Formats: sequence, structure tokens, C-alpha cells
Amino acid sequence: MDMKELAADAELEKKKQTRRLLLFSVVIIAVTGVIFVVMFLNTVKSLQYVYTNRAYQDAATIKSEAIELTVRDLMGEIAQLNDLRLRDEEGVIRSLAPSVRAVLKEETGKDLRGLRDLFTGNESLELLTCVAVEEQSGKILLDDGGFAGESGIWTEDLEEAFLVCEHVREGGVDVIYGITSSALESEMEEVVTDRLVFLNKSVGTMYWIDRITKLDDGRERRVRVVDPETPARAGMSLDSKGIGNGPWNFASDGLTEAAEGELVSHTDDAVWNEANGESVTARTHTCAMYYAPYEWAVCAAFRLDLVGVDSIRSQEESRKETIRLGVGMALGFAAVLAIAILLILTGNSQYYKLRQKKLRDQVEKDALTGANTRGYGVQLLTEAFRRFENGSEISPALMVLDVDKFKSINDTYGHDGGDEALKRIVKSATKVMRGKDCVIRWGGDEFIAVFYKMEHARAEAVANRLRRAICDTPVKYGEQEFRVTVSIGVTWFKFGDSDYTEALKRADEALYVSKEEGRNRVCVAGGEL
Ligand code: GH3
Ligand code: MG
Repeated sequence: MDMKELAADAELEKKKQTRRLLLFSVVIIAVTGVIFVVMFLNTVKSLQYVYTNRAYQDAATIKSEAIELTVRDLMGEIAQLNDLRLRDEEGVIRSLAPSVRAVLKEETGKDLRGLRDLFTGNESLELLTCVAVEEQSGKILLDDGGFAGESGIWTEDLEEAFLVCEHVREGGVDVIYGITSSALESEMEEVVTDRLVFLNKSVGTMYWIDRITKLDDGRERRVRVVDPETPARAGMSLDSKGIGNGPWNFASDGLTEAAEGELVSHTDDAVWNEANGESVTARTHTCAMYYAPYEWAVCAAFRLDLVGVDSIRSQEESRKETIRLGVGMALGFAAVLAIAILLILTGNSQYYKLRQKKLRDQVEKDALTGANTRGYGVQLLTEAFRRFENGSEISPALMVLDVDKFKSINDTYGHDGGDEALKRIVKSATKVMRGKDCVIRWGGDEFIAVFYKMEHARAEAVANRLRRAICDTPVKYGEQEFRVTVSIGVTWFKFGDSDYTEALKRADEALYVSKEEGRNRVCVAGGEL
């Protein structure tokens, strides 16, 4: 198989392999594409979930902060209102003493009508409670506050029911009047109810007040005090599970122990009343603060399932992030794929180049000496003869070299020593050559040196240079060194030759002459050239 066939063969195989690789690449692209799309869609889903969840968390946090803030505000307001009201009433109580005394002085009957009229007929005294006691016996004569009980006798400790009170003694009657804590509390209940009713509430949010009384056994008794959503519940006693409707079953444990102004909160399932009257159980966040003067728990709760998430905004954000991520991932994938395919294809073509070179070397180069093989030499000489024949190039100088007494070299140094000599000869010959000039191992110890575009006149001198280069360079074989000589026959193609072989015949004849004349010499073939 000559080089052309070899090259065509290799090219065909390369094309086939490239086609196989391209098909393989398409399959890889398709598979990775599908994987990419699946991964991408999953990522989109997770991102949307993360964003919606984040938005939800944000909204829930904002909402819980808002209700907590409102509860704190309410607590502040209640305390402030309470103090204000008490101070107002105290003023009224103190300034009322002369009027009470005057009324008592003018009192004619035992029924204390004047005193009664003074307290009931005056709107500004509405919150005040009045008790009239017969000084000597302690017998209660007038009892606004329901102090009499079964005995109907006034005792000092009953006075503790008043937050602020005043005594007016006149005509054997002791009038105790002032404001009781229950009167102030019920007044505050009204005020706070109004406040809660008009509170700006969103859907699924509610505010209420419970009274929490710590029982002797350690349990806490809850009574609904203010419930703007369901006023009917006011006064209902609720257990810790909040029997009935509404999210009041938050863990009240510890609320009474909480420090003043400390906010207790927790998240739990609670029952809510829907607008249509049905009740639903929903995840609920509840917070409360304890107001010790009335044992009030100011509470607020909101349904977590109704927390409005700005889903459009979170979707928009997740979409943007997804697009950014998708483009990044796609570019990354494409780059990795492109690099992988490029590497495969260049690797493939590199492999075929190397393989082709190896094959070419096998065909063209002599394995022992590295000179051109006879097969390739025939091709070179045939082409050179064609170029000479069609006049495109002058004939190259053809020099046939034969090693002198090679048999004896083999005999002396062994076959391996002979091989070393052949290698050395080719190396030495190559040093004399330029450009395309080449040396062909024609067979055994015979070589043909081809010097292109060489004028005939120079050929003999070059042949001698070649001969000297060979015999001047010693062959090193193991520890030994020896010299080797060649005899050379020189010739050229001749017009009228049918092919290159005729020139070789002439060169052989000249070589023969060299041998005959004593070897290690050059003989140029005679005759017309
Ligand atoms: P002459 O000077 O007349 O050429 O004598 P010669 O001994 O060189 O005779 P000839 O050229 O006929 O001998 C060629 C020898 O080369 C014969 C063969 O044993 C030896 N030979 C051929 N190929 C190789 C080879 O690859 N390696 C070695 N070591 N010897 C080879
Ligand atoms: Mg020989």
C-alpha cells in the first residue's frame, strides 16, 4: 500500500470517526440538555418557594411586630388613662367634701334623701360610691357600693375597696365616698372597649382583654373582659383550652409572672370564627401583656394562614433570579459542552495525525537506520525521473553506496556491530545533505543517496565528501570503535532512459569499478549524459 492509499484510508477512517463523535456529541448535548431543563425547572420551583416563603416570613414577622407594638401601645394607654382618671376623680372627691357636709347639715329625715340626690343626680359624680354609716353603731344607712352584706355593719377593712375616699362626719353620720377599684375598672373597660373597637385591624387579626386570676391551686382562671369581635363573650370564664370560640387558648402560664411590660408570645393552633358563622382551626400567633392593677391580659392574635404575601412581587423577584441563574447555568453548560466536544474532536484529529505519521514512517522509513525504505525510494526516484523527463527539473545526482567488506565487519563485531555501522553511515551521510536530499536503503549494505538540483560538475566532489564523512566518523559499538568505508558509483538520469532503473544500472557499474579499484573511492559513470 503506497502513501496515497494510506492517506486516503486514514482520511476515510478519520471522517467516519468524526461522524461517530459528532453523533455522540449530539446525544450528549441532548441528554445534558434534558438534564439541564429538568434541573432548571426544579431550581425555578425551589427559588419560587424560597422567595414566597421568605416573603411570607417577612410579612408574618412584620405583622407580629405590628400587633406586639399595638399591644404595648394599648398597655401604655390603659396605664395612662387609669392614672388620669384617678387623678380627675381624686380632685372631684376632695372638692366635694363641703357640698357633702352642707347636704348633711340640711338633711331632715333619716333616709338621707339629700345625700342620695347629690350623688345620683350629678353626672360628674357617676363613678363615685357613697356609704353613710351611723357613727355610734356602725350601722350602714346608705349603701351605694353594696358593702352592707348580711350584718349591715361598716368595718374599717371595707374601706380598702376604695382607691381614693373621703370621710365627712356631720350630725352623727359618717359619710365615706370615693372611687372603688371596680368602678374605675368598669369605666376603663368601657374606654378600652371603644379603643379596641376603633382599632385599625386587618382580616384575621383580633385584640381582646382577659382577666387572669391566679387560683390557690396554681391554675389561672381566665375571664373575658373586653371582646370587641364577640361582645357576648364578655364575662365568660374560659379554661386554658379556651372552650368556646376564639383564639384565647394561648399559654397563659407564666403571663402573671411576666415582668411589667414583658411581652409573652407564642404560635399555636386556635379556633376562629369565620364571617359565615363557621369556626375554623388555624395556625395563630398570639401575644399578650399583663396589666397587674386589674389582672388584665391585653392580648392580640393573627391568623398565619391569612398573612397576605405579595406573591406578585416575590414571583417577580424569583423570576428575575431564575433568569439570571438560568442564563448563567446555560452559558456554563454550553461552555463545558463546547470545550468537551472541542477537546474530543481535536483529540481525535490529533490521534489520526499521529497515527498517519506513524504509518507513513512505517512505510517510508527503514526501521534500523532511519533512511528511506526501498518502497518509498522507488516512488521518489520514479517522480524525480518524471520531473527530469518533462523538463521541469534537472536530474538529481544519484550515488549508489556499498559498504566495503561488510561481511568481515559482521564477522568481527557481530551482526549488532554491523547494524551499528549501517546506522552510523546513514547519520554521516545525512550531515552532507541539504533540503530534500535523501538517502535510501536499497537493500543489505547498499544505499542510494539522491542529491536534487545538483550540477554535474559538483557531484564527484560531493560524493567524495560523503565518502569521507563516512570513513572519518568512527563507529562506536560498546567499548569498541572501528571505521567503515563505502565505495560509491555516481550517475544521473539520461535522456533516452526508459526509467530510473537504467541510471541505477550505470551507477552499479561505476560502483563495481570503485570496488575493483580498491574500494573507499568514488567512480562517476562514464558515457554521454
Ligand atoms: P564488498 O566490499 O564486496 O561489498 O564486500 P561485502 O562483504 O560488503 O559483500 P556484500 O556487499 O555482498 O555483503 C553484504 C553483507 O551484508 C551480507 C549480509 O550478511 C550483510 N547484511 C545485509 N543486511 C544486513 C543487515 O541488516 N545487518 C547486518 N549486520 N548485516 C547485513
Ligand atoms: Mg558490501
